[in-house]
Amino acid sequence: MKRAFYIGRFQPYHLGHHAVLTKIADEVDEVVIGIGSAQKSHGLSDPFTAGERVMMIRHALEDINIRHYALPIEDIQQNSIWVSYILSRTPPFDVVYSNNPLVIRLFEEADITVLQSPMYQRDVYSGTEIRKKMIAGEKWEHLVPPTIADAIEEIDGVARLRSVSMTD
Ligand code: ATP
Ligand code: MG
Repeated sequence: MKRAFYIGRFQPYHLGHHAVLTKIADEVDEVVIGIGSAQKSHGLSDPFTAGERVMMIRHALEDINIRHYALPIEDIQQNSIWVSYILSRTPPFDVVYSNNPLVIRLFEEADITVLQSPMYQRDVYSGTEIRKKMIAGEKWEHLVPPTIADAIEEIDGVARLRSVSMTD
């Protein structure tokens, strides 16, 4: 049984994440998905709760044939012990998939294999770009799997993001 670890904030889950997870599903038996900054929600960069992100990942992975564990991971402000912190709350895994330089560095220093995947149209498939479009009232639905657009509608996510983008 080969198990991979993949971490992101998924604010929201988009087609870039989906492409990486599709590739992971081809290469391993199970994937552990860390939902980073799990304590954050109702913010401009982090509008969705950990539970809402668990739901998005569950819906999105119905399309992909792999067993997954989506686990909320709160931030700790101490990079030197971050890998131990991750290992203390995840099922055992053999390999990490990441493109994030800090994540790659921390796992490699702990002698854990990290595989980098190509970025899929990073200029469009980006959480930051999708949140900007939501606030601006532009089309964003084509940048996420259809099930994610439905889930965001169900929780009235765009209205929430617009509310938290306003000042008093
Ligand atoms: P934000 O702009 O909010 O940071 P993001 O698009 O970077 O959102 P994250 O949840 O921060 O998404 O990223 C999780 C992981 O997914 C990171 O390792 C990131 O490099 C990777 N990732 C993000 N976009 C893409 C993409 N288009 N193709 C491949 N990997 C991606
Ligand atoms: Mg990011």
